[in-house]
Amino acid sequence: VVEHGAEGVGLYRTEFLYMNRSSLPTEDEQYSAYRAVIENALPGNATIRTLDLGGDKLADFITVESEENPVMGLRAVRFCLTHPEIFRVQARALLRASIHGQLRVMVPLISRLDEIRAMKAIFRQCRNELAAEGVAMANNVPFGIMIEVPSAALTAQHLAREVDFFSIGTNDLIQYTLAVDRGNPHVARLYAPLHPAMLSLISIVCGAARSTGVDVAMCGEMAGDPLCLPIVLGLGLKNLSMNATSIPLVKAMVRSLSIEACEKLVNEILEMNTAESIEDCVRWRLREMLVGTPCEPMLQALFEDPSVAIDAEDLL
Ligand code: PEP
Ligand code: MG
Repeated sequence: VVEHGAEGVGLYRTEFLYMNRSSLPTEDEQYSAYRAVIENALPGNATIRTLDLGGDKLADFITVESEENPVMGLRAVRFCLTHPEIFRVQARALLRASIHGQLRVMVPLISRLDEIRAMKAIFRQCRNELAAEGVAMANNVPFGIMIEVPSAALTAQHLAREVDFFSIGTNDLIQYTLAVDRGNPHVARLYAPLHPAMLSLISIVCGAARSTGVDVAMCGEMAGDPLCLPIVLGLGLKNLSMNATSIPLVKAMVRSLSIEACEKLVNEILEMNTAESIEDCVRWRLREMLVGTPCEPMLQALFEDPSVAIDAEDLL
């Protein structure tokens, strides 16, 4: 991640510590894993996400009642609040690791205010417990939430008062907004990051963040998608989290684009009513914006022939 030009870690998915094994990871094991991420991210932030189990991410040792609709079931923050004995181990490990750098804690799948308050209460209890045991911790660990459910996006103004930052999780936000299973090939063509509904929700979240002074980032595949980039920038996002391999191209494009032109493009497409017309317009305008910039040689790979490889090494 660092070698590809990242400034920090925007999303560390902790559920992978819990999957493909027969017992829960211990507090010490988690502490070591989080400490390594936090130290390697320095001088940047390490944004570590609390357990996002359930739905499509299942662990062998957790016997969940079979659910008819698991993606809308007992997953992520709902699972943590239903099994505080499991989550408290993670909260303690995170707080212990916080002393080693710039940890930010982020909670997935928030859909209502009381979930934020309940998670903060568990962190507070664990902090008090650890302090009584004489364990050193960072004084302030920023607490954020993922905006990946429409109810959270629409009430971002209220949620902002309880948190330090938002990160828009577009993979799930698209799934829940458009009612399109993100892993189902039969409906893959309906999975549209530039659907007007998505743009409205992102715009609401960015507006709420601006007016309340809360930081906002974007994670999920949309944040690293070159075609979405001018829209993402034009909507006001400045903090993007993506796969390491996407970073060089996105950085090169950011250097080549003007924010003013991106904002103008957003105004143009906010009037449009289909994902397809928006995509066509963005493709057209993006080509105009990149001609004559160091990104020009990438245009063919981006828009005409996806089989043309972009050499990330050239961009580092
Ligand atoms: C998201 O939903 O956009 C996200 C980043 O989380 P995950 O892909 O792990 O569900
Ligand atoms: Mg998600």
